Amino acid sequence: MGVWYMPPFELVQPRDLDGALRHLADWAADTKILAGGTDLLPSMRQRLFEPRYLLAVGRLSELRGIAWEGDWVRIGAAETLNAVAAHPQLVSAFPALTEAAAAVAAYNIRNMGTLGGNVCLDTRCHWYNQSYFWRKGIGFCLKKDGTVCHVAPGGRQCWAAYSGDTAAALMALEAQLRLVAPTGERLVPIRAFFLNDGQRRFVLRPDEVLTEVRIPRWMAGYQGRYFKYRIRQAVDYPLVGVAVLVRTSGPRVLDVRVGLTAVNPMPRYFDVPSEWLEEPPDVWVERVVEAVARLARPLKTSLLVGPAYRQHLVRVFVRRGLRSLLALSAAA
Ligand SMILES: Cc1cc2nc3c(=O)[nH]c(=O)nc-3n(C[C@H](O)[C@H](O)[C@H](O)COP(=O)(O)OP(=O)(O)OC[C@H]3O[C@@H](n4cnc5c(N)ncnc54)[C@H](O)[C@@H]3O)c2cc1C
Ligand code: SF4
Repeated sequence: MGVWYMPPFELVQPRDLDGALRHLADWAADTKILAGGTDLLPSMRQRLFEPRYLLAVGRLSELRGIAWEGDWVRIGAAETLNAVAAHPQLVSAFPALTEAAAAVAAYNIRNMGTLGGNVCLDTRCHWYNQSYFWRKGIGFCLKKDGTVCHVAPGGRQCWAAYSGDTAAALMALEAQLRLVAPTGERLVPIRAFFLNDGQRRFVLRPDEVLTEVRIPRWMAGYQGRYFKYRIRQAVDYPLVGVAVLVRTSGPRVLDVRVGLTAVNPMPRYFDVPSEWLEEPPDVWVERVVEAVARLARPLKTSLLVGPAYRQHLVRVFVRRGLRSLLALSAAA
């Protein structure tokens, strides 16, 4: 059998969310949820997943739409990344999020790829994102089919890096996720969604569908930027991603938040203590740079660039983001 052949599966196309939940009630353990398929389908060809069923949710109306509802801005999980990146109200309210969405992969992939799929992205590692035969050649690894971690041999944990772009901004924005299962639904703060374990990844259960991402309306008062390092600017996953948010009132800086992705098994965030902001900007900016750098723990999950350089770039991006936003607000 060839290396890149898709394993057999049955495509389930429910008409509505209830239909999807009925399927999950019986078959959750044998099912993978399919949105745009831009990450899942290549991974299936690498035999990283061989589900019996693919449950297509991309066209369900319950997972679509972008709307201001009371204190929240609701973004349907099946909205494409291009729809998010180009939405005029989102661009002006949450620029760090729309910049991150626009930085994912390439235009054609963003036309298929969804926000929900981006949040629920699998973690990535050089020793894992390979064909079945490549992985077999090294005896597989702990995350899939093997017993050893090639990044941290001797350990029992997977350190594959969470590499979704939008999560850095969504962590800083204190987004919430609506997870719906056959037995009921729950709202989970995105800050409590991820696990620092490249294998388990997050608290989403196999019978749950992410239906929407909600952002507090009051976060619309923040200026924001997203900075990303990747090898090929035209398409690659992030090796470092930093979202920076700043809220000002005249010359006063009221609040600063930073989100971080692609350097740990989970995205991280740092809310700057308000008393730090009483210090001169040059002083507190460097304190924030060091505090965020301490959160970043890149390991040798990529052979394209070393952990030390990725750590260095975290500092560069945080400093660049804060300085550019402070200059922007001073000029306003
Ligand atoms: C060449 C290439 C480059 C890429 N570059 C980047 C990049 O730079 N940055 C980046 O972040 N990503 C990148 N990606 C990955 C991917 O394109 C995006 O992350 C995209 O947003 C994934 O969304 P999707 O709808 O295609 O997800 P899918 O592939 O359909 O699903 C991804 C995962 O999420 C789960 N899932 C999807 N929707 C739901 C839901 N509603 N509820 C529960 N679970 C769900 C699926 O079961 C699966 O495990 C790249 C992919 C390719 C092929
Ligand atoms: S970090 Fe280790 S266990 Fe995880 S995917 Fe990489 S080699 Fe495998």
